[in-house]
Amino acid sequence: MALDLFNTLSGRTEEFTPADGKTVRFYACGPTVYDYGHIGNFRTFVAVDVLRRYLRQSGFRLMHVMNITDVDDKIIRNANQRGIPIGDYTKKFEAAFLEDMKSLGIEQPEQLSRATEHIPEMADFIRKLAEKGAAYQAEDGSWYFRIDKFPEYGKLSKKDFAGMNIGGGGRMDADEYDKDDARDFALWKAPKDGEASWDTEIGPGRPGWHIECSTMAMKYLGETLDLHAGGEDLMFPHHENEIAQSESLTGKIFARHWMHVRFLLVEGQKMSKSLGNFYTLRDLVLMGHKPSSIRLLLTSVPYRKQLNFTFDGLLQAANSIERLRNFKLRLETGHWEEGENPAVVQMVSKAVSEMRSSLDDDLNTAQALAAIFDLVRDVNTAADRGEVKKNNIPALLDALNRFDEIFAVLVDEDAAHVKSIVDWAKAEGMEEKISPETLEIAKSAALSDAQVEVLVKEHSEARKAKDFKKSDAIRDQLLAQGVVLENTKDGVRWKRK
Ligand SMILES: [Zn+2]
Repeated sequence: MALDLFNTLSGRTEEFTPADGKTVRFYACGPTVYDYGHIGNFRTFVAVDVLRRYLRQSGFRLMHVMNITDVDDKIIRNANQRGIPIGDYTKKFEAAFLEDMKSLGIEQPEQLSRATEHIPEMADFIRKLAEKGAAYQAEDGSWYFRIDKFPEYGKLSKKDFAGMNIGGGGRMDADEYDKDDARDFALWKAPKDGEASWDTEIGPGRPGWHIECSTMAMKYLGETLDLHAGGEDLMFPHHENEIAQSESLTGKIFARHWMHVRFLLVEGQKMSKSLGNFYTLRDLVLMGHKPSSIRLLLTSVPYRKQLNFTFDGLLQAANSIERLRNFKLRLETGHWEEGENPAVVQMVSKAVSEMRSSLDDDLNTAQALAAIFDLVRDVNTAADRGEVKKNNIPALLDALNRFDEIFAVLVDEDAAHVKSIVDWAKAEGMEEKISPETLEIAKSAALSDAQVEVLVKEHSEARKAKDFKKSDAIRDQLLAQGVVLENTKDGVRWKRK
C-alpha cells in the first residue's frame, strides 16, 4: 500500500514517496503573527498534521519546516500604532499560535523558522537572483523579481499569463510604480520612515513574504523539496512566486509535490468578520467548545473537499469523542472472559486496514473515521452479548492507538488547554467572554489524568472496604474539580464534565 496524494503541480493524484525513500523533507507555510489564528487557518495546519502523522505511521522519517512570518506590512503598522518594536508585538501572537497548535494536538514541525532570523540569507538569495538577471533594483532601493525571465510562471496555479505583459503601464500599486513590468513582484522593500529595516549587502530594507519562504525552505531542506503545503489561498501568487524565485536560482524543480488545503465555510457561508461568523480557536473555546471537538470536526471532511463548520457539527464531534473515550475505558476496565473470539479479530483487522486504505486514498479522513466508528459500534454490540474475550482486548486497544496516532482526540487534555486559554482571557481583560461551560471545563484541569486515576483507585478501594465515608469524600472532591465517577458493572469509570 502506498499513499496516493493529489499534486497541484501535475493536477493528478500520484503516489507520494520521498526522494531518498526514507525522510520526507517538506515545508508548510506558517502564520503571519499579527493576530490570533482562526479556524480556517487551523483547518490547514490540522490537515498537514494528519499528513505528517500518517507518514510517520507509514514508516517515514520527517523533516518538516514551517515559517513564522514576523515582519510584514500589518505587523509594522500595528506595532507602530502601539509604539513598540515589532519583536515585542509579534512575540505574544507567536506564543498564542504555538499554544493553539498544542491545544489542537498539532505537532510542532522539526524546524520552526522566523523570518527576522534569516535576513542575511534572504539578501544573499536576492543578490544571486540579480546576478542571473532575474532580479533588479528600482530607484527607491526596492528589489523586484523579473517575471519575463521565468517562462514557466503560472505552472502551479494553471493561470495563463501570456499576453498579460502590460509593461510599465499597469500601475496598480502606487508604491510600486517603478517596476519594469506590472507582474513583477517585490523581493525586498526599501525602508520608509519609522519602519523596521535591516542593513544588508543589497542595501537597507526588509524582505517580501515570498522570498522568506523560498530562502528558509531551501536552507533547511535543500534545493528540491519532497512536498510543499499550504492553504488554497496561497497557491497564487505566493506559491507561484516561491517557485519562480527558487527555480530561477537553482535551475532545479523546487518542490516535487504541492498540497493545497481547501477553505472552510462556517454555517454555510464564507467566514468573514462582517457576517459575524469569523471565529478564532480562542473564541470557540471561550464559548465552551473543547479543542478535541474542533480538531475532530476539522478532520471530518477530506482536506480537498469543502468543509462546512457548524455548531451542530461541533456537538456531534464532542459526542463522537465521548463515544470513543467511553469505548476505550470499557476495554480497559471491563471484565472479560478468557479466550479470543475470531469474529472480533476479524472486525479489528478489517477496521485497521480500511482506515489505512482510506488514508492512502488522498487522505480520505471521512472514510477512515467511519471505519473506526463502525468498529466501536460493532464491538460494543458484541460486548453486550458477551462475545468479546480477554485476548481480543490488546488488538482492540492497539487499533485505537493506531487511530489516535493520526487523529489525536482520545487522550483527554482538553481541560488543561481550556484552562490556559481561560487564564489568557482573564489576563486580557476578557472575562465576560468566558462561558460558564468553559469555566467548568477549566476547573477540572487542576487535576492531571494520573492524579485522577490515583483518587479513583482510592475511591474504589474504600468502597470495597465499605468505608463509604471515605469513598463519598473522594467522589465529592473529584466532582468539585469537574470529574464525574460512574459506577458500572465493570467497575468505576471517570470522565471530565
Ligand atoms: Zn510561504
